[in-house]
Amino acid sequence: MAGDATQDVPWLSPAAANRLLTCPYSVTYLPTGGRPVLKQTAGRDVGTLAHVALQRWIETGSWRSAVGDGELARLFSSVAEERGVDVAKVADGRMTAARLRRRASELREVLCELGGEPSAECEVTLYDDDRRLWGTVDVLLPSRRGPVVLDLKSGGDAAATAVPDSIAVQLWMYAALIERCRGARPRWLGVYSLRRGLKQVALPSDRLTTLLHSLNEVRAGWLSGDRTAIPTREHCRYCRRRPDCQPHWNAVSQWSDPDGVEGRLVEATTAQNGRTAALPATPTGSAWVSDVSTRGMGGWIGRWVRLVRVNPRRDQDGEPDLSRWRANEQSAVYAVEDR
Ligand code: SF4
Repeated sequence: MAGDATQDVPWLSPAAANRLLTCPYSVTYLPTGGRPVLKQTAGRDVGTLAHVALQRWIETGSWRSAVGDGELARLFSSVAEERGVDVAKVADGRMTAARLRRRASELREVLCELGGEPSAECEVTLYDDDRRLWGTVDVLLPSRRGPVVLDLKSGGDAAATAVPDSIAVQLWMYAALIERCRGARPRWLGVYSLRRGLKQVALPSDRLTTLLHSLNEVRAGWLSGDRTAIPTREHCRYCRRRPDCQPHWNAVSQWSDPDGVEGRLVEATTAQNGRTAALPATPTGSAWVSDVSTRGMGGWIGRWVRLVRVNPRRDQDGEPDLSRWRANEQSAVYAVEDR
């Protein structure tokens, strides 16, 4: 059968494509065989709740008139309730509700202006069976001059002034999928950030061709075992392989702005507020890390620990002081196999 050979070629979603392009070592699995299916998860984090509320608001057509503006924040509350989340008690919950209230009218105007048609599709999953690419578009608006693609962002990833490369690659992949599946290249691509509003992503046609070619090459390399680790602060920050990725731990102390420290835990003191001050003996000296929220670190004394997304204090010259660190809500601690 003609399709047999292609069944062994892994499918690439925008997220997998990004990871392959930035650090092939970070990719441990890619689906092969028939078309992958989007997993529906009942996420409980604030970003997911906001995302679901936005989708329901669009799907139900509440965005079509100013009367529905208040409905967006109400949907956020009802999604949170369904999933057992008290938004008043979780980080960023109240702030996200306020952003939804404030942004609803602007988003309605954006949708009306860009689409110009009284319809919008949400969560549209598209497949390119030849290139083995797939992805799920947040919002697809029809318009006389061509489709409009809008990705909804509630977190900080789209809050920077410039749209990060990872989001540009994601949108370019959507553009390639829409061209293949709907027969027309999108006339407009962009994100709507709850924090920063609307941002367009340009689509230079030559770069789309280059991207698709690069994806083929890097996927073929990955399949043949070429899975080089490329540690950078930006890409390692939330990587799932981070706790055990030795190439990253070899590199982190050399970064100008390191956000990870490791060593053998010699002391852990927990204050009445539940925060722990941990003292790992690192390869270059001792390092106090304050404000760690992980509980039970006292049981890890003598073990090798790795703390990520922690910040070194700065000396008078603004240089990182690697003997004093502070954790925050994003930080994580792992006890790993002995070194
Ligand atoms: S931690 Fe960094 S180097 Fe290691 S796999 Fe992840 S992105 Fe790559």
